[in-house]
Order: sequence, then C-alpha cells, then structure tokens
Amino acid sequence: MKQASTFEEDFARVGRWIDEYFQEPERYAVLPRVQPGDVAARLADAPPEEGEPFDAILRDFEDVIVPGITHWNHPRFFAYFATSSAPAAIAAEALAATLDVKVMLWRTAPSAAELEAVVMRWLGRLLGIPDAWTGIIYDTASIAGFTALAAARESLGLDIRDRGMSGRDLPPLRVYATEHTHSHIEKAAIALGIGHENVVKVACDAAFRMDPVALERAIEADSAAGMRPMAIVATVGTTGTTSIDPVDAIADVARRHGVWLHVDAAYAGVAAIVPEHRYLMDGVERADSFVVNPHKWLFVPMDLSVLFVRDEAMIRRAFSLVPEYLTTSDGNVRNYMDYGLQLGRRFRALKLWFVLRHLGMENIRERLRLHIALAQRFASWVDADPNWEVMAPHPLSLVVFRYHPRGAGDEEQLERLNARLLDAVNATGEMFISHTKIAGRYALRLAIGNMRTTEADVEAAWEILRREAVRL
Ligand code: PLP
Repeated sequence: MKQASTFEEDFARVGRWIDEYFQEPERYAVLPRVQPGDVAARLADAPPEEGEPFDAILRDFEDVIVPGITHWNHPRFFAYFATSSAPAAIAAEALAATLDVKVMLWRTAPSAAELEAVVMRWLGRLLGIPDAWTGIIYDTASIAGFTALAAARESLGLDIRDRGMSGRDLPPLRVYATEHTHSHIEKAAIALGIGHENVVKVACDAAFRMDPVALERAIEADSAAGMRPMAIVATVGTTGTTSIDPVDAIADVARRHGVWLHVDAAYAGVAAIVPEHRYLMDGVERADSFVVNPHKWLFVPMDLSVLFVRDEAMIRRAFSLVPEYLTTSDGNVRNYMDYGLQLGRRFRALKLWFVLRHLGMENIRERLRLHIALAQRFASWVDADPNWEVMAPHPLSLVVFRYHPRGAGDEEQLERLNARLLDAVNATGEMFISHTKIAGRYALRLAIGNMRTTEADVEAAWEILRREAVRL
C-alpha cells in the first residue's frame, strides 16, 4: 500500500499547482462552460467513511471543481470589479488557517489584534484618513456598511438598542442615497428596521453624482414632515460607473443638519494611495465613516473590507455585549468582538500586512496607475470607433460602453444587440465582462483591476469585442 504522504509533500504539490495556475491562465475559460447542476452531478452523495489520499482529492479538485470555476484571478476577467490575489496573500491565508485564531478578545489573539491596529494605521495614512479615526476589518463592505449604519442609528440617541423600534412612537428614520448607491445600503436599512421605503434616492447630475442641493431639499422636506434624517451615504466610485459623489459638498449638508455621513469607497478608495488620485478623499475627513475594500483593488483575496470610523465608541455602543464567559481583566485593549455582530473573527490583517510588505508601495502605486491608464486607453479606442460609444465618464479603471452601429435602431434593439454581444463574448471563454443599465440604457462594463492584466490582455479584449460584434 502506498505510504500516506506527508503534509509537506501535499503542500508542495498545492504550491506547484498554484504556481502553474498563475503562469498558464490561457488553459482556462474565464467563464466556465458548465450548466447549472453539472458540478453537483459529479460529486459524491456522501463523504467517505475512510479518509481518502490527498492525491485523489486534489485530482478531483482539478477535474471536477476547477472546470466549474469562474476565474476571478484570470487576467482577462473584466467583469463586475476585477480583483486578484497576490501570492504573498495566498501564503498568509495558509498561515492564518494554520494558526486559526479567533480574533474576539485581545487575549484570544494578541498579535492579530495588534497587527490589525497597526496595518489599519498604515492603510489610513496611505489614504489620508485622520489618525484619530479607527480602522476595523470586516469580511465585506456589505457588513462594514451595515455596521456603520447601525452606529448611525445608535448616534440618534433614541435608545433603540434597549427599547427596539416596534410598539413605540418613533419618527420614520431616513437614509439618503442615490439610484447608483450599492444595494447593500438598502439591505442594511431593511435589516436595521429602517425600512426599504425610507431609503431616499436623491437626484443625480448628468455624471451620475449625488446632487447636494437635492439632498438638502430632501432632508429639509423630511424634517418638516416629522421624519428623522439618520444617515447620508455618499459613494466614491459607484458600482455601475465609478461616478464620484461630491463628498465635500455633501459633508456641508450633513454638518448643517447633524446627519451621519457614510462614504462607500469599496472599490475606488484604494486609488487614493496614488498621489494624483488623492482627490478621491476630498471631504472624507469630515465624514463619520468610510469603507474601502482591499479585497477589491489591493490584491488581497476575498475577504477583507475596512471600515474607518471617526468615533469608534459609537460602534461599541451599538454592538458591545459581554457575557460572563467573555469578561477579561486585560485592561486597556481593543476587543474586536465589541465592534460588530461577529464574535470570532478571522485573522485577516495578516494577508494585508504580507501584501503591503511584499509588493511595496511603489509597486502598488504603479499597478494602480497602469490599470487606470489601460482603462483610459480602452476608452479612447471605443471613442474613436464610430460603431461604439462610451456611456459614462471613466475617471478610474472601469469603462462603461456599448456597441452602437450606425442605423442600429431604438433603445430596445440596442439592448438586445448588446446583451447578445455580452453572451457571445463571454461564451468564447477568452474574456469575461458584465453589464449594467445607465439611465435605463443597457451598457457593457469593462473593469481592469487584476495585477496580472497587461496591455496585451486589454487589446485582446477590444479585438474579441469587435470580432464578436461583426459576427452578430
Ligand atoms: N460598495 C460598492 C461601491 C461596491 O461596488 C460593492 C461591490 O461591488 C460593494 C459595496 C459590496 O462589496 P462587498 O462584496 O465587499 O460586500
């Protein structure tokens, strides 16, 4: 019988697999050619009674799992927001899993708690967040945003934490966003008992940015009607188009009316690391909370989202609840369980620390600059071709565009044409893009954010798009 392999051999095999995976992305269709149920049909109905050799499991990983993977780490993944995992972060994930600490009390993971605080200070300074703010790591922007809105609700002084919201004479609480705000804000409002209807969609200007005058009018009208403005959500880099709400002007309104200002920069915030894009942070120092996702554009694998907050005590007031078995005598320490719904938290700071140190800031800035430059180049090709059109401003690394051949017909026909084009392009397996609707018009999105994407990949994408468009 074959001797059981050692962990070291197994891990070396995994290391080789990872290396090859990154070296030969062309072996994989970016969007897999599987139908719903295909993968499940190839999996066993129940786990084995006896343990199986690592080899056999790894073989099935290659033969069954990988063919059903959408390759987010592929350099021609241009859909949604393109992301990527730096090798140092992959190694850090393995180390974090090895230690498997639960970052809940300081004493349950002292190094993890202290590294988190230090790396958050690094990141805060890179972005220009005031030193007095606190950075806390969450899994996703959705949860970080939910946490910020929970703190905003707590800051109203309505004693909702203790008395709840039902069976009481409370005014409707209002949250101000736009039609371009990411949907997690609406979900948070639903979960926090604010109610979906109380998320006000403030009007935008022609570049899809929140109109501060319309915001102020909405707040005044709501207050006059006996409602209670609770929070404004400004977005720096909206999901659809990366439009940038005027945070500074919005902060004026927030200050005048005493409303919590949350800034969602989940994708675009990272670009503020680059000096010429520091403008993205204009006014953020006057907000109350700010979210950025290193797992989007900072080469850190899912999941790692950061919430920076002006007054961390407000988060604790919303969430801290210490049962007897979690009391400690550790004194003046940060117990991260006090900052959200979760008790045990993963050691996420480790991978960000590895990435920032291993890539170095100069390298990171250059990559971000390259992505933005590649997007600008792509947009210029689209712009120069009379059969195509750019649909929105493209300040960063996302281009929103569509195929619009002369004599193409009305909006409905254009939508059908571009939806077919999207399917055709993605069916090639050579690249993957997604779509959105802007002001009711169907548009394609090409997002550049993968550390392995080169100019040749973007050129290839433009080739494929034109080739498939001609074929339709
Ligand atoms: N905010 C913005 C602007 C986004 O674009 C996204 C996702 O793309 C999110 C929030 C949600 O991010 P997460 O998946 O980390 O919850």
